[in-house]
Amino acid sequence: MNNSNRRNFIKNTITLSLGAAVLPALGPLNVLAADPQEKGRQDNPAAFQFVQDKLPYAFSALEPHIDAATMEIHYTKHHATYIKNVNEAIVAEKLNYASDIDFFANASKLSVKARNNGGGSWNHNFFWHSLQAGGPGAPAGALKAGIDETFGSLDKFKELFAQAAIGRFGSGWAWLISDKGTLKIISTPNQDNPLMDDAPVKGKPLLALDVWEHAYYLKYQNKRNEYITAWWNLVNWNEVAKRL
Ligand code: MN
Repeated sequence: MNNSNRRNFIKNTITLSLGAAVLPALGPLNVLAADPQEKGRQDNPAAFQFVQDKLPYAFSALEPHIDAATMEIHYTKHHATYIKNVNEAIVAEKLNYASDIDFFANASKLSVKARNNGGGSWNHNFFWHSLQAGGPGAPAGALKAGIDETFGSLDKFKELFAQAAIGRFGSGWAWLISDKGTLKIISTPNQDNPLMDDAPVKGKPLLALDVWEHAYYLKYQNKRNEYITAWWNLVNWNEVAKRL
């Protein structure tokens, strides 16, 4: 047993012994456990949990813009861990939300673990579906009209969106959102998103770009701007339009 394991063993043993000694004296704890509302929260099978969406393409499908190794690690390690951790928090904290929308509408009340991992779970599902292989497309219909009207042109929109993505210091996301019908470009820190009740600008997410270093570092290292330029080739504009 190494020192760290030994310390944990001793700590756990002490906790167990203390627990055994103290519990019989704490009758009211049993009353709490029997509270019907508390019990309901604990056992509610309908409580919302996050699910990792199946990746809609192969890890290598987005080459050369996003490499297969980055995609595999991003999906199977980073995203999978957010999902595991948020669902752990939902159970441990007896969170009883009806949906993802409901979960994020209460973001300001969540623990750090539930908030960050919930954001990471949702944002990545959204991100995977925002992308496709097969060359750069372009927005059409009402989406094109909205972009032209709000930002002047697709090129100007891309420039402003890239500025938001590059300007995000450290880890976070750039977003195109609809704020009650008005298109806006915003960025959020960490795994925050525009569905969160305490987001500075809230709205319906239409497009998201992950600018955490884990999203691009293997291929682009410090060159976030090159990652963003390449990423435009992958945007699934049909999906963005459907979200409008
Ligand atoms: Mn990511």
